[in-house]
Amino acid sequence: MADNRVVQGRMVTPKRLAELIEGESVMDAEAIEDADRECPECGGNVLEVGYMPGVTSFVTGYKCQDCDWSEIDDED
Ligand SMILES: [Zn+2]
Repeated sequence: MADNRVVQGRMVTPKRLAELIEGESVMDAEAIEDADRECPECGGNVLEVGYMPGVTSFVTGYKCQDCDWSEIDDED
């Protein structure tokens, strides 16, 4: 898939990126985008991915491409 991106030296799919952020498996994930922000830990590029941790919820996750930093935004 063209959506794959390199995160911490590894190629990840949108779903895999969402799982790295969530810390467990997720139902579904949208395409990875570049977030308009820098990592607060290392200043690296931050990726954004919308995903469904479960059937009734949708959140936006953020993950640094270069370090372990990540964050989850609940949209409701
Ligand atoms: Zn970082």
